[in-house]
Amino acid sequence: MIDFISIRDDVSQINGVGSKKKDRLNSIGIHTVEDMLNYIPVSYKDHRFVVPAIKAAMTKETLVCGTLLKIQQRNSTGRRSVTECTLRDDSGVFHAVFFNMPYIKKTLNVGRKYVIFGKKAIKNGLMTWINPEIHIEGSEGDRRQIIPVYRCTQGIRNSDFIKWIEWVFKTDSDIDYEWIDNDVIKKTKMMSRIDSYKNIHFPLSKEHYRAGLSRYVYEQLLIYRLSVELNKKNMSDEKLTSDIRDVDINEFINSLSFDLTEGQKQCVADIEKDLVKKTQMNRLVQGDVGCGKTVVAELAIFKCVKAGMQAAMMAPTEILAKQHYERLKKDFSKFGYAVEFISGKTSKKKRDEVLGKLKTGDVDIVVGTHAILTDDVEFNNLALVITDEQHRFGVNQRKKLLQKGRGVNVLVMSATPIPRSLAATIYGDLDFSIINTKPADRKPIITRVVNHNSRERAYNAISEELKKGRLAYVIAPSIDSDDDNILSVDKLYNEIKNKFREYNVGLLHGRMTQELKDKIMLDFTQGIIKILVSTVVVEVGIDVSDATIMIIESAERFGLSQMHQLRGRVGRNEFQSYCYLVNYSNSEKSMEKCRILSETNDGFKISEEDFRMRGPGDIAGTLQSGNYTSGIIQLCTHTKILELAKEDAAYIIKHPNKTDMEYVRIHVNSYMKNDNTEVI
Ligand code: ADP
Ligand code: MG
Repeated sequence: MIDFISIRDDVSQINGVGSKKKDRLNSIGIHTVEDMLNYIPVSYKDHRFVVPAIKAAMTKETLVCGTLLKIQQRNSTGRRSVTECTLRDDSGVFHAVFFNMPYIKKTLNVGRKYVIFGKKAIKNGLMTWINPEIHIEGSEGDRRQIIPVYRCTQGIRNSDFIKWIEWVFKTDSDIDYEWIDNDVIKKTKMMSRIDSYKNIHFPLSKEHYRAGLSRYVYEQLLIYRLSVELNKKNMSDEKLTSDIRDVDINEFINSLSFDLTEGQKQCVADIEKDLVKKTQMNRLVQGDVGCGKTVVAELAIFKCVKAGMQAAMMAPTEILAKQHYERLKKDFSKFGYAVEFISGKTSKKKRDEVLGKLKTGDVDIVVGTHAILTDDVEFNNLALVITDEQHRFGVNQRKKLLQKGRGVNVLVMSATPIPRSLAATIYGDLDFSIINTKPADRKPIITRVVNHNSRERAYNAISEELKKGRLAYVIAPSIDSDDDNILSVDKLYNEIKNKFREYNVGLLHGRMTQELKDKIMLDFTQGIIKILVSTVVVEVGIDVSDATIMIIESAERFGLSQMHQLRGRVGRNEFQSYCYLVNYSNSEKSMEKCRILSETNDGFKISEEDFRMRGPGDIAGTLQSGNYTSGIIQLCTHTKILELAKEDAAYIIKHPNKTDMEYVRIHVNSYMKNDNTEVI
């Protein structure tokens, strides 16, 4: 029997976590007891009060309780089974219907009292709960409390998380260990750590939950700020600039087939100024999808390589990195510069060859994924590193990059518009350039929302575009799915192949081999494939200019900014482009998302709306899916707490002896470690 547990202990110390569950937990990033506590619920179910059936709302889930009067099972069309229950409470008779759960009949007994949790609907004039949760009244499953809902994974049920976390709270522990100085905590008037965790996992009320979450958010932001502050110290280094001063980039500008927009020109001017400064450049370029960030990056690279130095460009995904590589190879070879590609998939032989040439300076530009950052990559004279779509790269990657050369300039490009004040916190030490112009020939994308019943309209629109010789994207919400209601990419692919027999249809998702993905993308770029059915792997940066229409299936399953990013794959030339959002949900939230997208093409506006609409569940989700920076961005919308955390972090750095710095370091390191996740 364990009678004491430490937050640093391995999860397997928790009662009921065996070796199988431990592996599963590890695979979702839960290694220690503290990780388990930090696995905050994505939503909650309010089981506190039983409501008379007649009074149950239809807009939210409620708990009702009644005696089972009758149970009936039939097999309807196809092989779907339907189990119909009739129940009664003091307010009258109501029904519960279960689809495809034939086993449920055996577990229910007429005459017994059951509690039912779900949303009431009116079917054939009767009050009906469809596929609700059901428990025997007073049984273990019938808990009259707010019940946390965790992001589950195969082999681990929600009830497992509840059991484990309850056990941790029941056991003697050091959860309430305060690593932050008492004075600091007192000043913030936050609740204790243990109370915060208890209120997050098992809140007694909304107010308790909010108070608990505040402390959690505070601590996360404090650690984040501390990591920014601690990293800053390692980042300033003097550099040599003499070679770069007189380099003229007009040669490259003149080789382009278009004129730069005002925004691009301004941004390039900012970069040129940075490059000749004595201290290294740390610049974030923000610009909406399609504003033309790549060419800005190219100009920065040109300036450096023409001065005889090397440049590296990184992208978060293989597909995107490959695309940049192709583009840079085309644009730079004509000036005689050597461009190479490295990713995790590059063969050892090729990799060794490229590494050799990077070291001797025979390669001028290297493009790739995280693989550029591994320790064995050495440069001759690296001057510039560019990361595209940086929100997926963490601070620690930047740090690693800077170890690759003395005073390396860093340029970060992001299409995720975040307000300037937020960016200052998140990226701490960066300067900004914002490209707020779009190439002049662009027409705003026309976005239409269609209900799933009329999705034919969207597909008819595809026909129209294909007839004009254009290309189409169709986006599915998931790769495969057990849920009949969610369209898997395979199902969608087959459907579309049947619908468009005369056209070549391609399939793209993250589980394909790299070779296959590359080939499909290439075929699509060249117009051999006319319709590309894909998951979100096309999300960032892919640039196929003939594509003029996109259909997003199950729009309700995507985030607002994410759909804006996806939509940015079309509208990349002078033709009118279209985006159809197929909505399968009646929820207000999903309708609002669709409405916002159909009303504006402005990424900044959309991201503001996105922040406004997101709840804590979303934050938990992003943090847990490993997209750490983006989780932090969302946490930062708690502006008051953010201010506190900033102040306190500065205080702690100045008074290290007042805080458990060892604890700070362990945390900073472990958060940094979590920031490496690849998206596909
Ligand atoms: P993003 O900012 O989303 O990364 P890209 O750099 O991929 O955008 O550019 C989108 C497309 O616009 C590319 O095909 C690019 O060649 C083109 N482009 C970039 N700048 C201009 C410009 N000033 N005029 C016309 N087309 C441009
Ligand atoms: Mg881009």
